[in-house]
Amino acid sequence: MEIPSRSPYVVVGAGIHGLSTAYHLAQELAARGLGSGADVVVLDKAGPGAGASGIACGVVRNNYFQPAMSELMQACVEVWESDPVAYAYNPVGYIALGASVQEADLTATYERQERIGYDSELILGEAEVDAHMKALFPDWRAQGVTACLHEHQGGFAFNMDSVHGLYGKCREAGVSVLSGVEVTGFVDGADGSIATVETSEGRVEVGEQVVVAPGPWARDFWAMLGLPDTIDVRTPSGEVVRDRPMWTYWNLQEGEVQVDPLTFATADGGAPPVIHLDTNAPLHTDDGELLTDELWGIYFKRDRHSVQGGASPLVVDGDVELDPYPQTTDVDPAFPDLFCAALSHAMARFEGCRPLYKQARSGGVGAFTADNFPVFDHLRPNLYAILDSNHGYKMIGVGREVAKVLVGEHAPLLYPFRLERFETGDLHPVSSSPYPWS
Ligand SMILES: Cc1cc2nc3c(=O)[nH]c(=O)nc-3n(C[C@H](O)[C@H](O)[C@H](O)COP(=O)(O)OP(=O)(O)OC[C@H]3O[C@@H](n4cnc5c(N)ncnc54)[C@H](O)[C@@H]3O)c2cc1C
Repeated sequence: MEIPSRSPYVVVGAGIHGLSTAYHLAQELAARGLGSGADVVVLDKAGPGAGASGIACGVVRNNYFQPAMSELMQACVEVWESDPVAYAYNPVGYIALGASVQEADLTATYERQERIGYDSELILGEAEVDAHMKALFPDWRAQGVTACLHEHQGGFAFNMDSVHGLYGKCREAGVSVLSGVEVTGFVDGADGSIATVETSEGRVEVGEQVVVAPGPWARDFWAMLGLPDTIDVRTPSGEVVRDRPMWTYWNLQEGEVQVDPLTFATADGGAPPVIHLDTNAPLHTDDGELLTDELWGIYFKRDRHSVQGGASPLVVDGDVELDPYPQTTDVDPAFPDLFCAALSHAMARFEGCRPLYKQARSGGVGAFTADNFPVFDHLRPNLYAILDSNHGYKMIGVGREVAKVLVGEHAPLLYPFRLERFETGDLHPVSSSPYPWS
């Protein structure tokens, strides 16, 4: 593999963030007369979509309790909507259904969405939610749901197709995207800047800036930059929690049932919104075995050949092997039963779907930060890190914002995600959701 000996901009990682950054940077440089895509090289040790972006369920939603996440997501949805064909984006909407414990969070989220102009509606009350869902799906039968946030924007995108869409845009803009080039280290310049990127194929001298967008490999780049495994975190109340692990790995469990996808349609035959259901109603298999009577949740969408989705992730104990990615051997044996029982709990049409469950190439691990929210920041004077804490396939617009930073503009949407927040206590509020990403 021939790599350039020097490049003004070096982007590491050809996932959703690296490619979006490279593409938008090419546009910014050209628009300002500062250069072009030829000034940008993307390096990936495998190839476009080899990491989490190529395995993501692809859900695009704004259901975030945290104001900064919600506002950033609105900008991201704008990017998805800008070219649905290239990004293989399905604007079918998204429905979050919650138990009473989540009512206040969903209400606050809805109210913010109204303020920022994100198109959604809120339905409260068990009977009202049931009626709303039955109008869409006459066989809806989920219990214990008292709040429903129906986002009319958002939906999902096909993971590899959207990566290829971005890859195509990069290439058209003149960006070189090089596969099979592993970054192995950085050589520091005088002021702590990165002078050179070391790779398996030789060295690249950095003209202006380096961007790292390593997805689950965040831990490895953190170590390469000499940053500590644990950090102290100041909570908003001023208390300092010492030695929190900077990176925790969660195993995202996903799978699919191979029903005819067209059976999952709305009452008028339309494409169904993505559904996320959380409830504390007892969950039984179709044979009547009780699986849980505590808060549980699933999300699911209509895929090309199946109905696909997942459930709450599990923390991975001990060492995490990332190569090859994803490790599909770690799936909890209980997951297929839970997923199929939950589908059947939601809609009668899924009753008896358990034999149709397939452990497809889905699921994988994600690297979560000390507060489970992204770090988007300069870690060196000329090294910008996009460490998305596994929130990120939907965040296609982060690259657009990062490109602004790289050419010296302000990107206020990224400010709440600076690393300094752990020290200052300027953390994001935490919701009552059982998921580490809500
Ligand atoms: C199972 C699963 C389902 C998910 N579902 C969703 C979802 O529905 N919606 C959503 O918004 N998010 C979802 N996510 C999260 C989302 O996939 C990630 O947050 C996002 O894709 C990360 O993008 P990225 O570009 O940072 O990293 P990645 O896509 O992981 O790309 C990183 C790239 O860096 C490369 N790389 C790593 N180390 C090196 C090195 N040393 N040298 C060179 N290259 C290197 C890798 O080969 C890889 O291609 C899901 C994640 C998982 C695991």
